[in-house]
This record gives sequence, C-alpha cells and structure tokens, in this order.
Amino acid sequence: MMGPAHSLSGAAAWLGVGAAVAAADRPMPWPVLVVGALICAGAALAPDLDHKSATISRAFGPLSRGLCEVIDKLSYAVYKATKMQGDPRRSGGHRTLTHTWVWAVAVGAGTSALAMVGGRWAVLAILFVHMVLAVEGLLWRAARGSSSDILVWLLGATSAWILADILNKPGHGSDWLFSAPGQEYLWLGLPVVLGAVVHDIGDALTVSGCPILWPIPIGRKRWYPLGPPKVMRFKAGSWVELKVLMPVFLLLGGVGSLGALGVI
Ligand SMILES: [Zn+2]
Repeated sequence: MMGPAHSLSGAAAWLGVGAAVAAADRPMPWPVLVVGALICAGAALAPDLDHKSATISRAFGPLSRGLCEVIDKLSYAVYKATKMQGDPRRSGGHRTLTHTWVWAVAVGAGTSALAMVGGRWAVLAILFVHMVLAVEGLLWRAARGSSSDILVWLLGATSAWILADILNKPGHGSDWLFSAPGQEYLWLGLPVVLGAVVHDIGDALTVSGCPILWPIPIGRKRWYPLGPPKVMRFKAGSWVELKVLMPVFLLLGGVGSLGALGVI
C-alpha cells in the first residue's frame, strides 16, 4: 500500500486497541488514545525505510535518505545470508528485513527502552519523528516538496512539545498500562510495534505479499511472501486501496474511538 493508506490503517488499529482495552476495563486516558493513534499512524510508514522513494525516506531530508541506503544494504545482506533454496534471487532489500515481525518487535522494544531511560528529550524525539511521519502520511502527501519540508518539521516539533506536556500531567497516561515507578512511557513502544505489523499486513494484501514470518521457514522458503489467495490481492495504490480500504479504515477508526471513549 501507499503512505496514506498505511497511516490511516495504523491510526485505526490503535483506536481499535483503545476500544478493546476499554472493554477489558483498562481504558486509555484520552491523551494516550490520541498520541498513540498519531504515533501508530507514523510508525505504519516506517518499514518502507528500505525504499528510497517512500514517504519516510524523504521525510527528514539527507538524514533519512542516508539511513534508507544503510537499511536497504543491511536488509539485502540479511536476505542473502538467510535465504533458503526456495527463496528467489533478488537485487535489493525492499520488503525484506523491515517487513517482518522481528523488525517490528525490535523497533518497538528500542523505542520503549529509549523512552524509559532517555527522559524528557527522548520522549520528545520519539514524538517528533512520529508526528512528522503522521503529518506526511495523513495530511500532506499531496503538498509534498522540498519547500513544505520545513513547515512539516515545525508542525512536528510544535505538536511533539505540546503533546509531551499533556501526557506529563498526572492522570494523563504517561504510566498507562505499566505503572511501576520508572516505567513511565514504556507503552510508547506499543503503537510502534502495532504500526509496523499493520504495515506488513497491508503489504501482504498486495500482489507481491509480505515475508512477515521471517525467519520461520514455510516449505523451502524462509522469506515466504505471506498473503491471501491471489484473486483477493490488489496493486499498491490501486482503486481498491483508495476507494474501498481507506474509507473502511476511517470508519473502523471512528467506531474504535467511540468504543475507546466509552460512548458505545
Ligand atoms: Zn512496505
């Protein structure tokens, strides 16, 4: 899928989690619901850091372009090192390492660790990166260009600053789910994992599938491209994605937030 559909599905997934935990008597304070949905929307773009024309690889100028090259090389090296007889030869790393559950868990765990030990500045940095991505994914893809970059960064920085202050207030959820002393902001890794997994599922619905289960072998393939039967798959960016899936994600997100806030 393309950026906007990924972001929208990420936000909808977090709102769905909000509804589920509300039903299980561990409701999210509203800032956790809002911030989590935005982080998840941003994190749902992250696996495409292995592709140089993806939204995320362009979002932070030379910094993300450089990181993209490193990730692509790393992914390709891991693919070559772990492929089995049934895995095809390939020429680059797109849709390999960063599109697996292992990557999702690793990035989420890294985020949680950073948020816990890094203090306020780490939380601000995590929020900034994901707010910029959420804006790119949800709102401004149409207006993308070098001139709007700085505007998006400013918007990301301001919203990160404001949201960090809101989360920090007592009862606003810095200690949601993990409430022992020293575990503040541990939950920030959860929307990051969820975003990456939702991204992978979205890609699995497309023609080429997605090797989500790596390194668990299926048959003679360790990079088995998981997906539904071929007839149910669609091309990335096709009308199914724009006219069917995106409205469905919007609807699910709306229902999820009503459930999370206890309205229904
Ligand atoms: Zn992808």
